Amino acid sequence: MITELKSVRDVWKKMPTERHARLFLENAIWGDDRFCPHCGSLRSRPLRGASVRPGLYQCSEKECRSQFTVTTRTPLHATKLDLRIWIAAMFHVLTSSKGI
Ligand SMILES: [Zn+2]
Repeated sequence: MITELKSVRDVWKKMPTERHARLFLENAIWGDDRFCPHCGSLRSRPLRGASVRPGLYQCSEKECRSQFTVTTRTPLHATKLDLRIWIAAMFHVLTSSKGI
């Protein structure tokens, strides 16, 4: 969780790659209950393959079948920035005594 982070430096220490950052967000947002952001279903499966970007899931509901990642329908969706930069920014917002 973000409370494990004591400084911005911790973001880079605990998340040496963007993959670590994605897994951090998946744990923080979903925990053990990954849900489809389109229909709310708890039934989905990871998509795998050489042409599939990491962290892509597909809803298992017959009437939905949407693909999503942990950032779908969040302000981070389709960001060009490394997720670690966003996490560092969130850390600043959450820990700033004067607020940002
Ligand atoms: Zn769905």
